[in-house]
Amino acid sequence: TPQAWDVVVLGAGAAGLMCALQAAGRGRRVLILDHANKAGKKILMSGGGNCNFTNLYTEPANFLSQNPHFCKSALARYTQWDFIALVNKHGVKYHEKKLGQLFCDNKSVDILNMLLKECEAAGARLMLNTSIEQLERIDLPPAGIDLTEPASVTATGTASASGAEGLAAQVASASTARVAAAGDTGAAIADRNGAVEQHLRNSGDAQVQATAGSQAEGGGEGEGEGEGGQGSQGHPGSKKKGSKKSRRKDESMAPAKAAHAYLLQTSAGPVRAESLVIATGGLSIPTMGATGFGYQVARQFGHQVLATRAGLVPFTITDQLKALCTELSGTSVDCLVSCNGKHFRENILFTHRGLSGPAILQISSYWLPGETVHINLLPDLDVPQWLAQQRNDRPNAELKTLLGELFTKKMATLLSEQWFVSKPIKQLTHAEMEDIATRLTDWQVVPAGTEGYRTAEVTLGGVDTKEVSSKTMESLKSPGLYFIGEVLDVSGHLGGFNFQWAWASAYAAAQYV
Ligand code: FAD
Repeated sequence: TPQAWDVVVLGAGAAGLMCALQAAGRGRRVLILDHANKAGKKILMSGGGNCNFTNLYTEPANFLSQNPHFCKSALARYTQWDFIALVNKHGVKYHEKKLGQLFCDNKSVDILNMLLKECEAAGARLMLNTSIEQLERIDLPPAGIDLTEPASVTATGTASASGAEGLAAQVASASTARVAAAGDTGAAIADRNGAVEQHLRNSGDAQVQATAGSQAEGGGEGEGEGEGGQGSQGHPGSKKKGSKKSRRKDESMAPAKAAHAYLLQTSAGPVRAESLVIATGGLSIPTMGATGFGYQVARQFGHQVLATRAGLVPFTITDQLKALCTELSGTSVDCLVSCNGKHFRENILFTHRGLSGPAILQISSYWLPGETVHINLLPDLDVPQWLAQQRNDRPNAELKTLLGELFTKKMATLLSEQWFVSKPIKQLTHAEMEDIATRLTDWQVVPAGTEGYRTAEVTLGGVDTKEVSSKTMESLKSPGLYFIGEVLDVSGHLGGFNFQWAWASAYAAAQYV
């Protein structure tokens, strides 16, 4: 008999933990599953170990998505101020580093502990080291048939694959699942009868609860539906039938009740969920447990997954620039960096592998292979005017000396040697002066590539938001299935925005699961 839960959250990262604590706080019985041996590994490594947990200036413009409107509703309903209130409630000390970025004074573990404590207090159960081998949805009869007296059932999904291959097979059969269900054989249905029957009983209870007008938001005693994590069978005897009219009225008051269930085969045994929340994140940092699992599930249930690529990631450079970057490794410069009409004013950092630093990470999310990145190394200076002034005031000064007043000595020397000819400024021709100004204010770099998911902070692209409700994060393809956090095609700028999206999307889903 599968363990039965109201809500199963896959992924104990930022979004999964937030969703679990909020849903459990509403009285839902919540299980969080993660294949990793520890919850919130990315929280722990975030913000250089100090977790940049939100940004004071969060707004939709800080997010990339094919649908820039998708994030608006969730961000408005759970704001940075809501998360700050939670952080304050737990006495976590923090500070604004710059540009509204809030970091822990102590360590990232403060944020993780806060989330785990909230989960525990609300009664959410966490199971680590648990992999999902197979996943299917079971549907109840079509709307209009009295759920308390089911006449027939339909089932979707296949139950043939097993082990590590199981999910892949499910993915392959995603769209056939429905078709198969429509013409399913009696034997196939009989195979699943136990689980479906149990689900019908439980859903019957759910219906009773809605009929009785119990506000799901209230949580508490009445919210339990009788099956529990212990796998008890519900209480069919306690069912009351409400009239169609009163049921409709009550349904508009409470979140819609399940007419489906998800059955999961896990390494810890079978699990059943009325609501299944996919919070398995993106592909960045595979060594931290990142997988494409969420995308596989999305495809299994007929969702489009938009092409993914690494975001907030350092650039690698061509051989041409290697010497400069290597020589300057460790040097950072305040720059204005632009690409595809987007501009970021922040530091760039030269590294042995290429270019990094916050301005580079930000622009990397807007860059596509082959494109040119424009870097203004002196964004606050009118360089042509400054050069003319120097020529007038100290005509014998060498370019190297003058640049040494704007950059580190090493960088001034390297630029003078590699980009220009260092000679007294009075000897520079008009064309040379123009070239110097252009090189310094519009250094054009065509990166060789990026460091990829190995070091990327986020994954761009993902589950297409067109097929997900922006209000509830529920799949428009498969009722009871929710996507939250980074697995969706919503990625934030650097600066605490990605966590704010995780919190906000998780909160939105938690109100409806
Ligand atoms: P995740 O936090 O990645 O959680 C996904 C969970 O799902 C993980 O626990 C994983 O083990 C689990 N999982 C994956 N596949 C499976 C599977 N097949 N079965 C079971 N479980 C699975 N953002 C900020 O806003 N501020 C920062 O300071 C910041 N710093 C960062 C630093 C680094 C180095 C990195 C890599 C990212 C940083 N980010 C930061 C981005 C931020 O960490 C993510 O956007 C955020 O964690 C996404 O939350 P999530 O819950 O969607 O996914």
